[in-house]
Amino acid sequence: MQIKSSMNKTLFISDLHLHESRPLVTRAFFRFLDTTAKNAAALYILGDFFDAWIGDDDDQSLVSEVAIALSKLAANNTKIYLMHGNRDFLLGENFAKRVSAKIIPEETCIDLYGTKTLLLHGDSLCTADKDYMQFRAMVRNPAWQEQILAQSLEARRAIASELRNKSKNMNSLKADDILDVTPSEVESVFIRHQVQQMIHGHTHRPARHQLMINNQKCERIVLGDWHEHFWFVCADENGTELIKENIK
Ligand code: MN
Repeated sequence: MQIKSSMNKTLFISDLHLHESRPLVTRAFFRFLDTTAKNAAALYILGDFFDAWIGDDDDQSLVSEVAIALSKLAANNTKIYLMHGNRDFLLGENFAKRVSAKIIPEETCIDLYGTKTLLLHGDSLCTADKDYMQFRAMVRNPAWQEQILAQSLEARRAIASELRNKSKNMNSLKADDILDVTPSEVESVFIRHQVQQMIHGHTHRPARHQLMINNQKCERIVLGDWHEHFWFVCADENGTELIKENIK
């Protein structure tokens, strides 16, 4: 497998689920920043970057280490974009500023070397999971988020673990048993945004799906999670690749 080394490349990752209990993944991410991402034009992180996020004032050491590594990449002129996932939806402007990144909305259209491309985390496409869609509506509500963020770090830690317990029966929050996207929802999102390509993560089912929508060739590229392997999309003027590498 050939990894492009040109400066004019754009990278996409998602679902790293960074957590203190998984130092190998954190290390693989730092290596990725120092090698593959070095000199990239842009790095898009499409959600579930962190396994949990209780607010930008969280003082755990993992957060500062990641902030330092991302800042270094940004200082070397790589643009960094962050999208919320279903785990790190509370990630805020303070963290983005700290690492010189920009938070982008959950459905963002970009021109990827001439191909209109929609970026999303992917959980919004899993409409068959009714319990999850209900949960999603609650936690994405600005008023709910404001009320959570107003509480002490300690209180928020307690709420986070309570939510984790509550969601044990919710498929979409169990890494091993996330429901896949709803095909009709995928189709209507393609039509709504008038794009030829979609890149998302969340389902942990990395693949490239070719589709025909309204007699137009479309492609849905799904990123994988970072576990034993890690996945990224690398795009440049010559095309777009979905690449898998070993964590170790
Ligand atoms: Mn997710």
